[in-house]
Amino acid sequence: MKEELRGWKDLPIGAVTYKLSLEYRTGGWRTLKPVIDLNKCTRCMLCWLFCPDMAILWNGRDVVVSYDYCKGCGICAHECPVKAIDMVPEYS
Ligand code: SF4
Ligand code: SF4
Repeated sequence: MKEELRGWKDLPIGAVTYKLSLEYRTGGWRTLKPVIDLNKCTRCMLCWLFCPDMAILWNGRDVVVSYDYCKGCGICAHECPVKAIDMVPEYS
């Protein structure tokens, strides 16, 4: 017997924020933090493109991480083509 799939309107309400995400400093969730080696970085901006939290910023000269919002997922380190980003323990 084929199971009937439910539509999104049938799903229970989950965690939905009702304010601007700027008001939630999610950096406190992090256990690992990305650290960028600017000597290796080629400024290709792929980390900026892939970061799901828009926590990679450009300061006019270098890429920098906004630790107020970075959740430490490690996607930027995974995608960096020259391995310029290390994920290091937040508390060590
Ligand atoms: S992906 Fe790597 S090389 Fe590219 S801007 Fe980010 S840190 Fe630099
Ligand atoms: S670790 Fe995740 S959230 Fe933090 S800067 Fe990298 S991609 Fe963005």
